[in-house]
Amino acid sequence: MEVLLEEIIEQCAPYKALGKPASYIPELAKGDVNDLGMYVILNNGQTFKAGDYKKPFTIQSVVKPILLLLALMDNGLDKVREKIGVEATGKPFDAINVTDQSLQNQHINPMVNMGAIAMCTLISGATYEERFQRLLELTRKLAGNNEIELDEAVYLSEKRTGNKNRALAYLLKSYGLIEDDDVESVLDCYFKACSIKVTCKDLARIAYVFSSHGKMPISDERIFPAEFAHFVNAVLVTCGMYDGSGDFAVRVGVPAKSGVGGGIMAVVPTRMGIGIFSPGLDEKGNSLAGIKALEQLSRKMYLSIF
Ligand code: GLU
Repeated sequence: MEVLLEEIIEQCAPYKALGKPASYIPELAKGDVNDLGMYVILNNGQTFKAGDYKKPFTIQSVVKPILLLLALMDNGLDKVREKIGVEATGKPFDAINVTDQSLQNQHINPMVNMGAIAMCTLISGATYEERFQRLLELTRKLAGNNEIELDEAVYLSEKRTGNKNRALAYLLKSYGLIEDDDVESVLDCYFKACSIKVTCKDLARIAYVFSSHGKMPISDERIFPAEFAHFVNAVLVTCGMYDGSGDFAVRVGVPAKSGVGGGIMAVVPTRMGIGIFSPGLDEKGNSLAGIKALEQLSRKMYLSIF
């Protein structure tokens, strides 16, 4: 298996430089397009890795399924479904042209920024700092890594330049989807959530727990009910890879979430968790070499769930 991963890393090398690191968050523009790493955890707990799997990067939108999970754990399925929709928007993650209808029906997709900002309000906690800390704790728990921290530089960069997210949050406020008056502190929680620093190993571990429907590797300890994993994995299939989710379903065929930091978390239900990192992005915001690598792994190991 490790040989296979190394072969894939080598074969995908020409694609690394075809992507571009995200530049709208200035700190992310520093990403090195030469990086490509992979980490896999099988259902028996065996691990395999190749390439730049030790390099840290910010989780960015890969935090959205964790946010959704925490919202489910704190509120249950019915309450989450009242505010959060499951239909793909077919639009970019930060699109401002949401329809009045989806806002009025409170049908906000949790894998785009607007839905993720709304989800921050569903997490329990006396303050938004406390809500973020609970999200960080859950991320550490799922990844089995207590050293996961916030990347302060990326967080400050997001906060300074995130005016489109600010616009989305105030739109939510105007439709009553954010009840708190302090919209800035909701945004702060979102910016911090995106700036959690992880590695491919962390993403593979988190993906593993979704793949085992809520159980930790080796110990088999149950962290959350299986029905939450079914919900999150289904949402990932339809909209985890931005408005490139259809193409990804055809080419790779597993629930997955990407982030503009270059990370991809791929969940192969009952079989494995995969973490990939390569900061060169395609025009949709997905890691270009990362998707190529997943496509090859899926073909070689018949991973498609379809
Ligand atoms: N922090 C990023 C933003 O809100 C996350 C975007 C992403 O990874 O899709 O713009």
